[in-house]
Formats: sequence, C-alpha cells, structure tokens
Amino acid sequence: MVPPIPFLVCCGLLWIGSGVLSAKDVVRHVLADGFDFPVGIPDAKGYYKYRGYTPNGHLGEDWNGVGGGDTDLGDPIYSVAHGVVVFSDDVRKGWGNCIIVRHAYRDADGKIRYVDSQYGHLLKRHVKLHDRVKRGQQIGTMGSNRGMYAAHLHFEMRKELRLGMNRSAWPRDNTCYYHPTNFINANRKLRSSSKQYPIPVNTFHGQGQLGKDPRLKGLEVTVATSGLEPLEEKKPKEKNSILRGILSKLRSQDAKEDSEARKDSEEP
Ligand SMILES: [Zn+2]
Repeated sequence: MVPPIPFLVCCGLLWIGSGVLSAKDVVRHVLADGFDFPVGIPDAKGYYKYRGYTPNGHLGEDWNGVGGGDTDLGDPIYSVAHGVVVFSDDVRKGWGNCIIVRHAYRDADGKIRYVDSQYGHLLKRHVKLHDRVKRGQQIGTMGSNRGMYAAHLHFEMRKELRLGMNRSAWPRDNTCYYHPTNFINANRKLRSSSKQYPIPVNTFHGQGQLGKDPRLKGLEVTVATSGLEPLEEKKPKEKNSILRGILSKLRSQDAKEDSEARKDSEEP
C-alpha cells in the first residue's frame, strides 16, 4: 500500500527553528538510553583524566590508561551513547583521526535534544560518516596522533551542532560545550524506546569557514543549558615545556596553513 502524501512529506522533512532540512540531511535512529564514558566502559575503569575541561582553555578531557605512557595505545574507544556518526576523518595537524557522533536524547523536561561527542587523536577509526552506532560500540582505537603526544583520548561533548572541526569560529565556553564528565554523570540513564527519531546531519562547514548556514539557525536552542555547569578545576600545569617548544617550532614551519586552522590545531 502506498502511504498518503502528507505522511511522506512529514517523514522527509525535519523542521528546525525557522529552517527545514531535507531527508538526505537526516538519519533516523533511536534516542540515547543513557551515556557512558568513552573508555573502560561503562565507568572508565582502568583510565583516568590526565587533563580536564576548562572553558576558554582545554575544551575537552584527556583520558589516559593507568599504565601511563603509550601502554594504552590501540585501546578500544567506545561511543558514549546510541547515535549517528556525523564526522569521521583524518584532519592531521594537532588532531589526527577524529570522530564525532551525534546523539538525540530525551531531556529531564521531556524534550528531545541533541548533543555531539567528539573523539580525537585516534589510531584507527572503525566507523564512517552517517553510520548508526550503539552505546558502547567500539568506534576506534586510542592513538597518539602519529607520536605527537603520549597516547590518550581527547574527548569533548558539544551542545553547538555546527562546530565540527571548526572550533575557532565559535565561542570557546559553556555556550558551545558541556563539561564532559558532568554531562555523562547527569545522563547515565535516560528514557528511550525502539522508536526512531530524525537526527540532523551535514551541519558542519569546512575548516576555516564560518558555519553559518541559515537553514540551521536555531539548532543551538534545542540543547539543554542548565544544571550542567562545569566543576571548578585547577588550571592545568605546563607539564612538558620541551615538547611544547618542539611542537610550536614545527607549527611555525607550517606557514601555509591559515591562522584560524592553526589555532584549532594547537589546543586539542
Ligand atoms: Zn586534549
């Protein structure tokens, strides 16, 4: 039986704010039924936070194996929740292999909201763009960005869905980012079902460009903004000034890169 036309139109389009996305800009998937940590699932057993989240500083968390050094190189990295892969690429520079997964979830007020989880410096990526992944599914392995760092996972939770790998175009504070651990702890268990919901994809623009597609106006207002203020954290110490010196020398040789892209590469 052919479904009535209004049904088809309804399924093909997703209204967001004042704009409308076509079917190719949407992947349907179940809501997240909760969030876990991206290493040592579900509770990050065997790992610790080497460096925390600081607004206008380090915009994510660095997770390391308790063994130290490169003992965690190649360890599995897991999707923190059910979601859709909205980025999977090797962006090199200070980032290397990166994956971003977008999650739809029902917030405490009953509304459906979206959040992106980002996984950086990976050794291998096991998922591709628009793959649907499950909570706890391995999506890659822990890396060192070709030996640039001791192996670790750089992990972010983003409320701004247009960020992608274009961080320098956006505010570097709680308007765009969540404190990752606080977000996960506040959302360990969520209401879900087998129902599939539309998840917007293709919301990023190229590195160094402003992601200001008018169709996406209003996406950022769909996210939770309260109750997830970051914990007070001490400013991270300068732990390896020699390595930083070498890195900054390497970067200054990279004169062809535009300054915005370079700014992005310096602080993952
Ligand atoms: Zn980091």
